[in-house]
Amino acid sequence: MNKTALITGITGQDGAYLSQLLLRKGYKVVGLVRSYSHVNIWGLEYLGLQKDVEIVECDLSDLSQVMSIIAEYRPDEIYNLAAQSSVSLSFKQPIGTIHFNIVSVLNILEAIRMLNSACKFYQASSSEIFGEAMLPLTEGSYINPISPYSISKASAHWITKNYRESYGIFSCSGLLFNHESYLRSDNFFVKKVILQAIEISEGRADTLEVGNVDIKRDFGWAPRYVEAMYLMLQQDVPDDFVICSGQSVSLRSVIDYVFNYFNLSADRVVISEKLFRPTEIHDIYGDNIKAKTQLGWEYQLSFYDVLKILIEEELANKK
Ligand code: NDP
Repeated sequence: MNKTALITGITGQDGAYLSQLLLRKGYKVVGLVRSYSHVNIWGLEYLGLQKDVEIVECDLSDLSQVMSIIAEYRPDEIYNLAAQSSVSLSFKQPIGTIHFNIVSVLNILEAIRMLNSACKFYQASSSEIFGEAMLPLTEGSYINPISPYSISKASAHWITKNYRESYGIFSCSGLLFNHESYLRSDNFFVKKVILQAIEISEGRADTLEVGNVDIKRDFGWAPRYVEAMYLMLQQDVPDDFVICSGQSVSLRSVIDYVFNYFNLSADRVVISEKLFRPTEIHDIYGDNIKAKTQLGWEYQLSFYDVLKILIEEELANKK
């Protein structure tokens, strides 16, 4: 019999690519959305999957709703991707971010514990939980969150570990570093730079306004990162894994690459202090050896390879 996977956050970047992966593997995919009236499935439509997944409304901050969905669908695996996912926005909406990103995880794990303890659970954790730390980051690095977003993700990370240790639930956290794709929301840095470079090169905009571009991030390609989520839930023993490229690049070098591609001059870039965050991680990169050896997850792309893919996909879709 086909397995059933339940994906929260199916309308996001990772939700779409993970749906594609699981459908190819023969899963029945059920996607939870917060409201039928505001559902935005453009990512699923872009991948041609809108008819292949079942979309179900569920308020993840309401335990009774989560319980009835789990009782009805009896999923084999739950991938919890739903979250307020922007670090910048979390400084503007700390209460909503922290409340939703923690309570939703607790509700799902409580429902699993009470109704379906054989169900495997994946939590979308984040490299942001480490804050400023000794590099490279590993699964054992010290957790030191420095934004409302990372505080919520660190808490969810500990909750996931606690349900594994206390109740024997197969619950895992994927400590994913930044990963990008054509389906990334426009408010995230890399997508914003590419879109604005196209606007400038086609004469519809003059400048690109950015915050602190001297920080460095370990960026990867989302379609490859969702493979690691799936692999984590296929293991015999639940565990947490760092998923990263292993190298960081500065945001300035991302702009340089994209602007070079479009033959744009660097004086089109405007640094705006109002876009600086109250606290910032200056450099972050991880060590993916555990994922490579234990999961068999392979990743060789440099971020400049990824940038080329992203620019070309963006241009192809503009035609
Ligand atoms: P997106 O921002 O693209 O998607 C977030 C998803 O969460 C959307 O489906 C959104 O639904 C849903 N969501 C947000 N708030 C709520 C809410 N209050 N109730 C119900 N659903 C909600 O994120 P990604 O796909 O990029 O990331 C997936 C997960 O991985 C997230 O948890 C993110 O924090 C985490 N992560 C992502 C990284 C990255 O670089 N992409 C790195 C590390 C972790 P709606 O369409 O209704 O807004």
